[in-house]
Amino acid sequence: MMDCIFCKIANKEIPAKFVYEDEMVMAFHDISPEAPVHILVIPKKHIASLLEVTNEDSQLMVNIMTNVIPRIAKDQGIDEKGFRLVANTKEDGGQTVDHLHFHILGGRSMNWPPG
Ligand code: 5GP
Ligand code: ZN
Repeated sequence: MMDCIFCKIANKEIPAKFVYEDEMVMAFHDISPEAPVHILVIPKKHIASLLEVTNEDSQLMVNIMTNVIPRIAKDQGIDEKGFRLVANTKEDGGQTVDHLHFHILGGRSMNWPPG
């Protein structure tokens, strides 16, 4: 996707503060953090949102959930007190970048319900 900002970050055409990378996934600090720890986890391949994930992506999704996220939580020192995982999806979900991403938010206590 030529004009997708997260594809550009994945291709290292735009700089980001990376905290994790493997063949399928990248993670980097959000440019506008909403918490002391605010990391974005993205697939390297362009998937527009959670609703465009298919069975072909099952290995990717399992990797993100069982490996990447717990590892980042440990590295960032938020595994003991916990964190919030968010996937804003499409218009009503407040998605502003149309490339699947998971927000990891931690380092402070969160409110519920979100606004
Ligand atoms: P969404 O609103 O789609 O759930 O989340 C998009 C997130 O991407 C926002 O939290 C926003 O701050 C972040 N973001 C947008 N552009 C950039 C960028 O160029 N670099 C980084 N690191 N984060 C970005
Ligand atoms: Zn993309």
